[in-house]
Amino acid sequence: MSEPDPLTSSPFVAAIEPITASDETIARALDDAEVPPLLPALAYLTGDLSLLRDDLRPDPLLAAALPQGGLTDDQLATARALALEVLVAFRDRGCIPAEPPSPDDLLRIMEHAVGESGLGAYLPLLSEELAVRDRDHRAPDWQRSDVAPETEFTVVVIGAGMSGILAAHRLQQADIPFVVIEKDADVGGTWLENTYPGCRVDNPNHNYSYSFAQRHDWPYHFSTQSVLEGYFRDCAEAFAIRDHIRFETEVLTAAWSDTTRRWTVKTRDSSGHEVTIEADAVISAVGQLNRPSFPRIEGIDSFEGPAFHSARWDHTVDLAGKRVAVIGTGASAVQFVPEIASTAGTLALFQRTPPWIGPTPDYHEAVAPGLRWLYENVPSYSEWNRFWIFWRMGDAAIEAVRVDEAWDRSLGSVSATNEFLRTALTAYLEAEFADRPDLLPHVVPTYPPGAKRLLRDNGIWARTLKRDNVSLITEPIARITPQGIETTDGREHVADVIIYGTGFEASKFLAPMRVTGRDGLDLHEHWAGDARAYLGITVPHFPNLFCLYGPNTNIVINGSIIYFSECGVRYILGCLKLLLEGGHRALDVRPEVHDEFNRLVDDENRAMAWGASEVHSWYKNDRGRVSQNWPFTLLEYWRRTLAPDPVDYELID
Ligand SMILES: Cc1cc2nc3c(=O)[nH]c(=O)nc-3n(C[C@H](O)[C@H](O)[C@H](O)COP(=O)(O)OP(=O)(O)OC[C@H]3O[C@@H](n4cnc5c(N)ncnc54)[C@H](O)[C@@H]3O)c2cc1C
Repeated sequence: MSEPDPLTSSPFVAAIEPITASDETIARALDDAEVPPLLPALAYLTGDLSLLRDDLRPDPLLAAALPQGGLTDDQLATARALALEVLVAFRDRGCIPAEPPSPDDLLRIMEHAVGESGLGAYLPLLSEELAVRDRDHRAPDWQRSDVAPETEFTVVVIGAGMSGILAAHRLQQADIPFVVIEKDADVGGTWLENTYPGCRVDNPNHNYSYSFAQRHDWPYHFSTQSVLEGYFRDCAEAFAIRDHIRFETEVLTAAWSDTTRRWTVKTRDSSGHEVTIEADAVISAVGQLNRPSFPRIEGIDSFEGPAFHSARWDHTVDLAGKRVAVIGTGASAVQFVPEIASTAGTLALFQRTPPWIGPTPDYHEAVAPGLRWLYENVPSYSEWNRFWIFWRMGDAAIEAVRVDEAWDRSLGSVSATNEFLRTALTAYLEAEFADRPDLLPHVVPTYPPGAKRLLRDNGIWARTLKRDNVSLITEPIARITPQGIETTDGREHVADVIIYGTGFEASKFLAPMRVTGRDGLDLHEHWAGDARAYLGITVPHFPNLFCLYGPNTNIVINGSIIYFSECGVRYILGCLKLLLEGGHRALDVRPEVHDEFNRLVDDENRAMAWGASEVHSWYKNDRGRVSQNWPFTLLEYWRRTLAPDPVDYELID
């Protein structure tokens, strides 16, 4: 028999062994299956497109919202029985996968998987995300030695989180010398620093992972911080980039020289030793959510007990029996409050606006053994599952948060679809708090779903808020006192510990570094609190400075930041190729291109729930402009970042 086809480029997925399991084992595994991607995976595997039965297609309207894509019990049973037949026959015929389908057939399989039609424009993007058949589709297809063997060109990458690791990997693939500067002692960024109890990803992991480094063995659907920290550490090892990283070293300044046409990057390590590095390009991968934000509250420094931010969790503080005050009910607090509520003596939760929370029954669940067996034994099933998540939580979801100008917004929604979502989420909260009607007015948001990040819940949020030792305080905070927190009604809430779940300095991109460009222009003075970039990546007057997870590359409901960084890194590598091939030293985005792009982004952001709503959120900067979010489809970002258009740039020789 021939060697099993690895079907994947991932360093974490071994070639799948031929199936030897009994019919009963396969049938039991199928009981745990995520069904919508199952028949598409089998059609892909066997080439038998008759498996794409119309009566087993998910309804696209329900697919994004309901478990199992809204398939009925009968449909699920029929699909499982069919899958059993196919898998048994596949096993008995020696587990030989069919030849890859033609593009037309691949499109048919994809459209069946998500219940939609007309996805032709998506085919190349979706093929990349599917990432089967042993190819890393987004890897550079060139090397410096091919395009400019005599040219010396070096890059400094700032940050070794998800984006920095990726940039380093791609630079290495293109044979471009680089160094990564990382202030922490290890890689991982977000997933290294946020060690608060309950920290986990909000996107299913089969999607929240690099497309070219997927895993079949995620322990959870939504993995915990330690699992993700391990994943990014494993990636850095597998990509062999660790030796290029200077840990515990912070970038203080980066200055462009009009004379040398290079960057000078000043760093300081943990012993205070300062070093400057010269480089041709700088890639900032410092994250949007890396610098904790503390609220501007009078007396914040006067509190006499321990106080810390969720992203700097102080594990030396024993919360047992303590009076704990938590400020904020955002994404982190919704994860850690349920974890500490039973340990604390009392927990006072200070809320400005309640979050919308979406029912996610498997939020804390381990991947069931049968499902894991399928991921690990049925070639391409795990990848098709990723594809399914990518679509249903990606562009299929965005319409639910787009404003319909004709819609009556007084209901608290921005369109008919948004209203459908609001009604469903309200019903969920009403059911969860049915026995505590006193809490209901405080837990049901009055702003439209999607105006702030939608959070996940498996019932634990309501159970926590209903605990006898937990109180939800919605009276605004007046000041912090040496003993606790005083609200505007004059009450002092005495506390032993204060925990800030107050998010990050998200709109202060690239802070606190000092970055100067052409003619010594200071980036932060130039932005004046309103960061903008072309495609979130390049900024006029700052040649060869590239940002990842930069302005307007965050998403609210649709997708994963890893996707944006993969697109962004491909674009940056395309810019470097443009320079090297053409013998240019640098490129600087044309101001008019940048301005026009930002105008489009601003217009579209105003047409989204987060831009139209008045509610306070971290998506808006101090000027009220949405500087975080990408308002268009994922396809649009992919299309715009495939390769740089030279006319968008001034090329500097
Ligand atoms: C609690 C939490 C949960 C999240 N959940 C999700 C989710 O479910 N789905 C999702 O898509 N995204 C999520 N995010 C967003 C998350 O930040 C991104 O998915 C991703 O981790 C960003 O990676 P990054 O490398 O761009 O930035 P980061 O992970 O923030 O890494 C930035 C790195 O740069 C380093 N750095 C910063 N400044 C300097 C400097 N001056 N010098 C040297 N080094 C520097 C930092 O130390 C850090 O290592 C979450 C964020 C948080 C905080």
